[in-house]
Amino acid sequence: MAGLKRILSGMRPSGKLHLGNYTGALENWVKNQEKFQNFHLVADWHVLTTAPEQTAHIWEDTIEMVIDWLAVGIDPEKSVIFVQSHVKEHAELFLLLSMLVTVPRLQRNPTVKEQIRELHLEDRVSFGHLGYPVLQAADILIYRAHYVPVGEDQVPHIELTREIARRFNTLYGKVFPEPQPMLTVFSRLPGLDASKMSKSQGNTILLSDDPETIQKKVRTAVTDPQKIRMGDPGHPEICTVFTYHKKFNAAEVSEIEKNCKKGVLGCVACKKNLADKLARYLAPFREKRAELEKDRKMIRDIIEDGNTRARKEAQETMRAVREAMKIGRMPDV
Ligand code: ATP
Ligand code: MG
Repeated sequence: MAGLKRILSGMRPSGKLHLGNYTGALENWVKNQEKFQNFHLVADWHVLTTAPEQTAHIWEDTIEMVIDWLAVGIDPEKSVIFVQSHVKEHAELFLLLSMLVTVPRLQRNPTVKEQIRELHLEDRVSFGHLGYPVLQAADILIYRAHYVPVGEDQVPHIELTREIARRFNTLYGKVFPEPQPMLTVFSRLPGLDASKMSKSQGNTILLSDDPETIQKKVRTAVTDPQKIRMGDPGHPEICTVFTYHKKFNAAEVSEIEKNCKKGVLGCVACKKNLADKLARYLAPFREKRAELEKDRKMIRDIIEDGNTRARKEAQETMRAVREAMKIGRMPDV
């Protein structure tokens, strides 16, 4: 794998993953395994930004998430799967990089601002929460990654990472590449309520949902609000269900569009069809998951092996960082 450009991408361990995680990030991870050297991080320290009191579930959520990564086709031989808190070098780099960014710059970050607003944290936001994009920058830069496959919400963080890398390189000499985001076509998949699909919004379809659950959930999905009766002409361009057809039922999408617009396809039938196609699309993932769930020891071993491989790279980068900054190492006599 030497000589390949690097990818770093991670997710907070929050249990089972949803369709948005797949279309925005995971699908790209799998696709890129051949062309790049992939590092995939379970960002457990990042959980503490919004839920520092809820640490008891982190390991279980880590296992569940890694099972989903493996179920969709991440190959642990090729890609390094590891846990952030097991590679302490991230914390050292985070501290050093935190000196290179201003507080107003962090306060301007639109993704953090949106999260603070949604969680009503205005006057209670923690120092660590405000600064988590800097920790994320350390997560990326410590592997000297060139690309970061993420959903649209993460793009401001990659921009900040690039700024920090540039500042470091200017001050101390070139250690870091400036990473680029890698986006998919469905980089902001809507949830069942038409807002962004998000674990914290309760509007998700999980990769591991069974066909019956998928049917139930799809039935509640928001469609075109002006299409009330079967004969009413629909507007697929504003319909969540149509967005899912585009992604998960590409073969029928033009026919569905035509019939919806003409008013000959009703939402009930359209949803039923989608749920069937979705269940079929997800079936291989569900089967693989069922197999993986039986062997948690193997999942643990994969993570342990990944931690070792990640640590080696992180240690190498930190040697270069200390050398460049002339701090944290004994000078030659
Ligand atoms: P939370 O609600 O806790 O923020 P989330 O559901 O948004 O959770 P994250 O863990 O924040 O999921 O995101 C993991 C990855 O999935 C990131 O790369 C993110 O950009 C991507 N992602 C999350 N939601 C979507 C979505 N609806 N569409 C496309 N990509 C998404
Ligand atoms: Mg999110």
